[in-house]
Amino acid sequence: MRRIGWAPTLLLATPLAHASASSSWIDLPEAAVPPDVEVFTGSFVHEGHGPTPGATTTDAVTVEVWRGETSACVVWRVTSWTDTLCRVGDDLFRDEGRGWQPVAPTAGDWLTAQFFAVAPDILAGHLLADPARLHATSEGLLWAMGEGMATVAGQPGDDTLTLTLPRAHPVFGDVSDEITWTRSASAPSVEIVRAEANTRWRLQLVAADGRPSGAPPSPPPPSTWAHQEVSPGVHVFDLPEADSRTVLVVQGDEGVLFDPPLSSDIGARLVQAAKAQAPQVRTWSVVVSHHHPHYTGGLRPWARMGATIHAPAAIRDWLLELLASDRPLSPDDPPVPNARVVGVSRPMKLAGGAVALRPIDATSGHTEAFVLSYLTASRTLYIADLGWWKEGTTAPRLRGNWPEDLGRWKPTHAISAFPLENAKVRWDWTM
Ligand SMILES: [Zn+2]
Repeated sequence: MRRIGWAPTLLLATPLAHASASSSWIDLPEAAVPPDVEVFTGSFVHEGHGPTPGATTTDAVTVEVWRGETSACVVWRVTSWTDTLCRVGDDLFRDEGRGWQPVAPTAGDWLTAQFFAVAPDILAGHLLADPARLHATSEGLLWAMGEGMATVAGQPGDDTLTLTLPRAHPVFGDVSDEITWTRSASAPSVEIVRAEANTRWRLQLVAADGRPSGAPPSPPPPSTWAHQEVSPGVHVFDLPEADSRTVLVVQGDEGVLFDPPLSSDIGARLVQAAKAQAPQVRTWSVVVSHHHPHYTGGLRPWARMGATIHAPAAIRDWLLELLASDRPLSPDDPPVPNARVVGVSRPMKLAGGAVALRPIDATSGHTEAFVLSYLTASRTLYIADLGWWKEGTTAPRLRGNWPEDLGRWKPTHAISAFPLENAKVRWDWTM
């Protein structure tokens, strides 16, 4: 039985396109630069709308991989329809024949796997962009996809690698969506089996020498974040990737950013967005309201550029460890061993008093360590995810206790960071 060294980089060595006939499964491809266009041909077998249960129709299919400077697209051309998925930066767009539609991050995993099965290096990049969702076991590589837990594993004794996503299906019962890569000296192949809500299908593809039958797709440019200055010097960015908002306060040459969410990638884009809004800022601070990933995940790029981080005192050591930890699977995100992290254990002010901080810790009812912030000039309370206001309503929906003891703060507005959907940007105080 052949044992395979399981690592996320395994996907890079899948048989498609790049591996030479003599290389082993765990070799990285020697030809690191794939061609601009690759073509696969095969059949699309479709079940679900035929005259009898189990009846299928079969169409010829051509699949093209187009690689550009800032985007990569896969086009499926079947007899009567065309379906295209493009990855632009970190965004996904799909065109099923009616124009480009953004794909929500939660829906993106299977679509990425399904379309980019013919470009395993791009698929591997998608997995490695979020290594927290990967776990290597002796049975294979587990991937926490949006739709469930998938396993990527080789079959002993033959040259195949399979991604398996078992799911409960409302019509077909328990199903297993699968992608199987098969290595071959002549022409590597991939097979995709998928159960959708009202149908199921099988796509079989083999690498071909032909030229693409259409022009390259032209996907939309990478999205920019919606931004508004809700009062002078108070900027709010909408971050759809995180379903959240991030606030930036600018006072002269000082800038204070609140709670960069989820990932170093988002954190790095926020650095750029903040600098674009406030090019005059020379001194940066970041306020961390509490330890949840929506409030700490994007800190590393800020720490790397020398921002002073203010966080609840009880999580200071934990944060320092988080920032300094090695991430060998994310070579572009090196550790920050000497981050400046200030533990907030009593009320304090930042940026010449433009921002005031107050530790409320366990009385937040949300986490044991919590810092509340007040934007002095606009009399705005920043409450992170302690509560939010649904559009069309006035009472806050709480995820903890409404803060009662505000000392001398007399807020007239409040900003909530989470969620983005259906939530007001800013709430006008009416009590
Ligand atoms: Zn939280």
